[in-house]
Amino acid sequence: MRAFALVMVLRVVQAMAELSLPQYMSDIVDVGVGQGGISSGVLTNVRAEALADLELLMDGESAALVEASYSGADRSGVRTFVGDPTQLREGSPLATVMEPAEVAWLAICAEEGSNEAVARMRDAVVAGTLTREEAIARGQAAAEAADTSSDKLLTQRAVEFVRQEYAGLGMDLDALARTYLVRTSASMLGFCALALAAAVANGFVSSRLGARIGRDTRRSVFERVMSFSPAEVNRFSQASLITRCTNDVSQVQVMLVMTMRMVLLAPIMGIVAVARVLSGRTGLEWVIVVAVLALLGAMVLLFLLVMPKFQIMQKLVDRVNLMSREMLEGVMPIRAFSREKLELERFDQASADLMSTQLFTGRAMASMSPVIQLLLNVLTISIVWFGAGRVDLGIMQVGDVMAFISYAMQIVASFMMLAMVAIMMPRAQVAAERIFEVLECETSIASPQNPESPAGDAPRGELVFDHVSFRYPDAEKDAVEDISFELRAGEMLGIVGSTGSGKSTLVQLIPRLYDVTGGAIRLDGVDVRDMTLSDLRSRIGYVPQQARLFSGTVESNVAFAGEGVTDEDVRMALEVSQAAEFVDELPEGVDAPIAQGGGNVSGGQRQRLAIARALAMRPEVLVLDDSFSALDYATDAKLRRALSERLSDTSVVVVAQRVASVMHADRILVLDDGAPVGLGTHQELLRSCEAYLQIAQSQLSPRELGLEPAEVVTLEPRADASRGGDA
Ligand code: ADP
Repeated sequence: MRAFALVMVLRVVQAMAELSLPQYMSDIVDVGVGQGGISSGVLTNVRAEALADLELLMDGESAALVEASYSGADRSGVRTFVGDPTQLREGSPLATVMEPAEVAWLAICAEEGSNEAVARMRDAVVAGTLTREEAIARGQAAAEAADTSSDKLLTQRAVEFVRQEYAGLGMDLDALARTYLVRTSASMLGFCALALAAAVANGFVSSRLGARIGRDTRRSVFERVMSFSPAEVNRFSQASLITRCTNDVSQVQVMLVMTMRMVLLAPIMGIVAVARVLSGRTGLEWVIVVAVLALLGAMVLLFLLVMPKFQIMQKLVDRVNLMSREMLEGVMPIRAFSREKLELERFDQASADLMSTQLFTGRAMASMSPVIQLLLNVLTISIVWFGAGRVDLGIMQVGDVMAFISYAMQIVASFMMLAMVAIMMPRAQVAAERIFEVLECETSIASPQNPESPAGDAPRGELVFDHVSFRYPDAEKDAVEDISFELRAGEMLGIVGSTGSGKSTLVQLIPRLYDVTGGAIRLDGVDVRDMTLSDLRSRIGYVPQQARLFSGTVESNVAFAGEGVTDEDVRMALEVSQAAEFVDELPEGVDAPIAQGGGNVSGGQRQRLAIARALAMRPEVLVLDDSFSALDYATDAKLRRALSERLSDTSVVVVAQRVASVMHADRILVLDDGAPVGLGTHQELLRSCEAYLQIAQSQLSPRELGLEPAEVVTLEPRADASRGGDA
């Protein structure tokens, strides 16, 4: 906020400094060069008789003001201005009194073709043949006859009078002009430097501010994304979330910096420049109006052309990101199926679409710049053209025309900046909206307002499914339906069923990756939705189907849960998960490096490390989602034995493809198309659940299943099914 205020202040300083420059330029040309450094018709030094002459053509009040502003005559008869220096400026009370009088004297002299006219009139007034009133009236008539319709002209004529008087006094007129030029140029340079310094400082401050806002926004977006459940991630898609976190934030950042650089400056410059132009009353204002209208017309045209494209562009960026991600992740199958060329073509298409859109907007924007240049040149020429006529008429001076051109440029530039921003804004707006969509997306799975925690004496690891149903968002039917079971501390539940029967879905409900859509899941007597997420998840060790490791070491991956995990926990976890077997053989042991995604260990090793990671946090409930699939039978069996021996208090939920992995479980749940078709021990299910019997017989021999041959014939033989080894 403070930085923003600083930007504002710097902006105002810069605008004020820049806006004073045309005036200085005009002064240098008109006053410094044109009027020999004499800026107003007020005399600073004057011969006593010349001042008396001037007073002849003033009314009593004005003459008194003049008298009061000058010292008495010195020995050489010269009187000096002693009043308030501000009274020397154009338009001040003294100037408005003296200038018309000076103009009147010049006019009378010009009328009679000789400066003697002044002396004669004075003598007549002194002699009493001409009254003061008559003299004033004559002066006014002469001044009116001379063309003094503009203030500028009046001052110019008065300045001429002053110059003649100074020459008469023997003053160095060249030195006067030089002093004025040096002083004005120095001030102008000072303001130039100030404007430059403010611009540079502003560049620094606004870039830094923009970068910080970018960083903070990225952080907020990322933080929000981390809280998302899979449902929200799916809604946006991973690729889009990445674009939103990076590209979209940059867009907004660029826009912010631009706003701070230009938008704040443009209105200030524009308004002040307009005010100055109007106060000049040059009669050329219409030229600027025409130029601004032409400019806005061109801008609107451009806007209509590129706006729709900008909206499309962001989507295309998303698509390119999505494709590159998909292809990088799928590099193996792409090679295996020799699809490189086809995939490249697919990518090329997406990339080419993006390019053609960018080309279009780029060309449209680029073509704008010569148009604007042309417009500015036409504007300058028009001002010079029409201004020249006015200089000729004496309404404007050359410096005025120059200042007018400067102000006109500033006005047009302000409108241009605003228009440019107006064009860029929608693009940033698209990006900003996409960011806000993420920020405003409430995660469907959050900790409750008033969380509960299981009572201290509650059994640890008691898991109850109470008529649980779940339907994916936008799905037409429930993925799992009316599932009920109870698991006491230390018990093991096996879940079997064909692919797509809802096994993974079911176990994902336990750590609340999704929330049930019917019924309830209770852990240690508390509904999982009533616990805080961190409390719940610290009690559940979930090993997902896809074992994912992070870059680091074996140790950093196993102790992933953080502080609570001791070295002993890590050792125990490695031994139980049977990962110790291969970790101990690595030269670096637990400090062996793990590549990103676990790329440098085999699938089975990765899976064991993922199991170790869940075990190391000593969970109440261990959830294994098909985590044995990449293990050979011997390891599978050793792992299960170690689990039941060393972690006998831990409840275990195992999803398995192999009946052998779960046949010793306390209870087995059989799913078919989301519905529970059997729940019981291996032996019970063999006799009561046909689906289970089919799966079991397809994998194991009757002897392994512990069935009497007589019981087998009731089912169709499945000789072709895969057969497992001994468990
Ligand atoms: P299993 O683990 O038994 O192979 P899943 O639990 O993965 O089965 O899937 C059960 C059903 O839910 C399937 O019909 C599948 O199409 C559907 N499903 C899985 N994941 C999603 C998802 N993210 N969105 C919508 N439907 C899904």
